Amino acid sequence: MKGKHYIGGQWASPASAETFDVINPSTEQLIEKVSAGNAQDVDAAVLAARKAFDEGPWPRMSGAERAGYLHKIAGIINRRLDELAKIEVLNNGKPYPEAKWDIEDTEGTFTFYAGLAEQMEPDKEEPIALTEPGFSSKAVQDPIGVAGAIIPWNFPLLMAAWKVAPALAAGCTMVLKPSEITPLTALALAEIVEEAGLPAGVLNIVTGLGSVAGQALAEHRGVDKLAFTGSVPTGSHIMREAARDIKNISLELGGKSPFVIFADSDIERAVEWIMFGIFWNQGQVCSATSRVLVEEPLYSALLKRLVEEAQKITIGDGAEEGVLLGPLVNANQYRKVVLAIERSVAEGATLVTGGKRPQGLDRGYFLEPTILADMDEDSDVWCEEIFGPVVCIKPFSSEADAIRMANDSRFGLAAAVMSKDEARCERVARAFRAGIVWVNCSQPTFVEAPWGGYKQSGIGRELGVWGLNNYLETKQITRYESDEPWGWYIKQVS
Ligand code: NAD
Repeated sequence: MKGKHYIGGQWASPASAETFDVINPSTEQLIEKVSAGNAQDVDAAVLAARKAFDEGPWPRMSGAERAGYLHKIAGIINRRLDELAKIEVLNNGKPYPEAKWDIEDTEGTFTFYAGLAEQMEPDKEEPIALTEPGFSSKAVQDPIGVAGAIIPWNFPLLMAAWKVAPALAAGCTMVLKPSEITPLTALALAEIVEEAGLPAGVLNIVTGLGSVAGQALAEHRGVDKLAFTGSVPTGSHIMREAARDIKNISLELGGKSPFVIFADSDIERAVEWIMFGIFWNQGQVCSATSRVLVEEPLYSALLKRLVEEAQKITIGDGAEEGVLLGPLVNANQYRKVVLAIERSVAEGATLVTGGKRPQGLDRGYFLEPTILADMDEDSDVWCEEIFGPVVCIKPFSSEADAIRMANDSRFGLAAAVMSKDEARCERVARAFRAGIVWVNCSQPTFVEAPWGGYKQSGIGRELGVWGLNNYLETKQITRYESDEPWGWYIKQVS
């Protein structure tokens, strides 16, 4: 519902009349004004989530009952698939087929976690073998409590689902703050959970700026866990906020993911995976294939084919048929990416193709697919996340050299390797210091498999059972079993 937050199962009027503009990046036109929630709105949302957790039915019902609601949510998403995909295109700029894919994956995420919730028996316990006689012990799991979720703009609804679905499956309640750049599908999600009849306060959604609403959520004492996806500087800031009252935290942050291609690879397959890896979602992907390392004998031929294919990509409004590359998400992101390209060239990199606004597209944040080469290994463009359709390519001379170059990064989100030699692929995959490794492909993401980074790319894992565990506490229950008095302490006293 326009201009409201979703709090305690109601569409709540905002505490202030302040709004922010939501823009269509293909046309630079205003889509609508959305409420800029403040600390008061966030406080109301956390109180509603707190009440639902402390007093409501949600954490107390069986996993199977919670699964029923998650299946209902998935069903409504499926019914509204086309409409939701069109909202993502309008607000984020991504091409329609990719937006449709996002919404299908969103539905899949709710269905998957419904499946895990169904397997959660309320009395499930794991016996613990103790060496001490007279005692028995077991481990049980509890939902963490109230979770605060703060998400980015690159996969607006999907990033919400990666947090909402496992948190709800676990029995947590949640306050979600979507990105101020792309809040529209999060508001649609509020309509969806309302239609699904989710008990009041289980999911609360407050729109607003990061520095105001996000900040208020990160520092709220009623929140037990923070689940954040976004940039490293914001993640680092949120970690400091969480440290104040020792909130549980999981962070999914940036990346600068390498793709190591050995000379025995099929050149056409390599080109296809690189293109998908760096140009889907306009390169605004945390795991994007932004550093390509090619074994020397293949380097020139591969670069030539990559340039030919990159120059063929159809650029335009994501709503138009045949478009493969939409606009960057907003003016700020466009400026940042163009500046990074200009700076890299000033520092000695070669602009092989792209780097400018495509001809005939005067409005919208459009940028040609860009390939850079000959940069230094310690240059910003090689080391820092650009988050745009910009790939850096370098040759390497040996397997050891490739592994060293790939791992020489403060990030460790994803990495990929391609070769016909299976043993070599396995060796390199094991040697990568990254949480997600692809062999003979790049980017395919599956809800069943763990997602998250080493080093500055984050803490914790989303998706799969690992994602559910993010929202669970483990408790030991230890029992004194003997009919005899224990006696040890009394003996010491007397
Ligand atoms: P961002 O850090 O600017 O913003 C992310 C969220 O944090 C937004 O909702 C924003 O409003 C909020 N925020 C900003 N300041 C805040 C504050 N002081 N307190 C609380 N919240 C605050 O990131 P972005 O530009 O939206 O997204 C791009 C980044 O996200 C990239 O670095 C990308 O790599 C990363 N990302 C990572 C993954 C992953 O799974 N690892 C997935 C998608 C995006």
